[in-house]
Amino acid sequence: METVAPENEIIEVIKENGGDSFKYCYQCGLCDAVCPWNRVRDFSMRKIIRQATFGLTEIDQEEMWRCTTCGTCVQRCPRGVNQIEAGVALRKLGAEYDVYPGNIAPIQNIIASLTSEGNSLGGDRDKRADWAKELSVKPYAEGMEILYFTGCYLSYDPRMREVAAATTAILNKAGVDFGILGSKESCCGESIRKTGNEDLFKRLAKDNIKAFIDQGVKKVLVSSPHCYHSFKNEYPEFMVNFEVVFISEYIAELVKTGRLKLTGEYPKTVTYHDPCYLGRHNGIYDAPRDLLQQIPGLTLNEMADSRESSLCCGGGGGHIWMETPKEDRFSDLRVRQAVAVGAEVLVTSCPYCITNFTDSCLGLDESEALEIKDLTEIIQALL
Ligand code: SF4
Ligand code: SF4
Repeated sequence: METVAPENEIIEVIKENGGDSFKYCYQCGLCDAVCPWNRVRDFSMRKIIRQATFGLTEIDQEEMWRCTTCGTCVQRCPRGVNQIEAGVALRKLGAEYDVYPGNIAPIQNIIASLTSEGNSLGGDRDKRADWAKELSVKPYAEGMEILYFTGCYLSYDPRMREVAAATTAILNKAGVDFGILGSKESCCGESIRKTGNEDLFKRLAKDNIKAFIDQGVKKVLVSSPHCYHSFKNEYPEFMVNFEVVFISEYIAELVKTGRLKLTGEYPKTVTYHDPCYLGRHNGIYDAPRDLLQQIPGLTLNEMADSRESSLCCGGGGGHIWMETPKEDRFSDLRVRQAVAVGAEVLVTSCPYCITNFTDSCLGLDESEALEIKDLTEIIQALL
C-alpha cells in the first residue's frame, strides 16, 4: 500500500480561497446521497472533499467541475461543510493555471465575451438594450421608482427576450416608473465566480456598482435568481447595499396593493419549479406559488422534488455554458417529473432553467407536450 504525504501547499491554497470548512467533514456520505449527479452517474463530493483534506486534488480532473452549486448537500451536511465554497476554491486553482479540461473548455470563450463585452452570450455591448427598442423602455434616470436590471440572457437570448417583454408589459400595466441601464449594464458575475474566476467577477461587480452609483440607483428589480443572489449576498462584500427585489415578489406586491389587477382565466394544469438560486439559496418559495394560486382556472400540481428538495436544472456553477451530454442532464429528469404530475405547463423564474427545460422538451414525444414558461408570461396573459 502506498503512503501518501499531505500536500500542505495545496491545502493552504484551498484554505486561502475560502474552502476551509472541508476540514470538518467526517465522511458520512450524506452529500453523495442527496446530490442530483447520482441520479444520472456516479459522483462523489465526499471524495473530492477527502482529496482536498490531504491536498491531493488534481486540477485537470473534470470531476472538480461537476458540482452545479445547487446547494442541496450544503443544506443537509451534519458538519456544516460548505461544499460549494470548497469546490469553488479548487476551481480557483484551475482558473489560475487556465486549466479547463474536456467539456469545461467553452468557459474560455465565455471569459473572453464577459471581458470584452460584459455579457456571456457573445453579444455586442452596444446592442444590450436592443430588446427594448420597440417597447419604448426608458433609460434609467435618478428619481425613477426602480431600475430593471435585465441580465444577459433576457437582453440577448431570443427566447428570453420574450420574458423581458412580458416583464415590461406587467410593469407598464401597473404604472411603475422604471428604466434600464442598457449598455451600461454588465453581467452580474455570479456564475463566472463559481467557475473560480474571482478577478473577472470583481471587475463585473465593480462596473455594475459604478453604474448604479453614477445613475443614482436605490432599488433594483431582477428577473434572474443568479443576479438576485449576487446583488443581495455578494455585492455587499464591496461595502454597498442596494435594495434588490425579485420579479415574483414584486408582482405579488403590485397585486396586493391593487396596482396590478389580474383578469381572465388560465385554465391549465401547471407545475412550478423552484430555481436553486431562488429557493435553496435565498428562501423564496411562497411568492410564486401564492401568485399562481390566485389565478382563476389554474390548477397547481407539485412535482416529486419541490421547494427545499427541488431538483436542480443542471445550469448553475457555470454549467449553463458547458457541454452536458444528454445522459447527464438533470433537466430531462425534471421535465419527466412535470409530465408525471399531469402538467401542461412547467413554470419557473430563471433563464438557465428555462433554457435547459426547453432543450429537454425536445426529447419528449407528442403525447407528453409540455410548455415551458416564465412566471411573468403567465401573468402577462391575464393583463
Ligand atoms: S455530508 Fe458533510 S460531513 Fe458528510 S461526507 Fe459530505 S461534506 Fe462530509
Ligand atoms: S451543491 Fe448540489 S451538485 Fe454540488 S455537490 Fe452538492 S448536491 Fe451535488
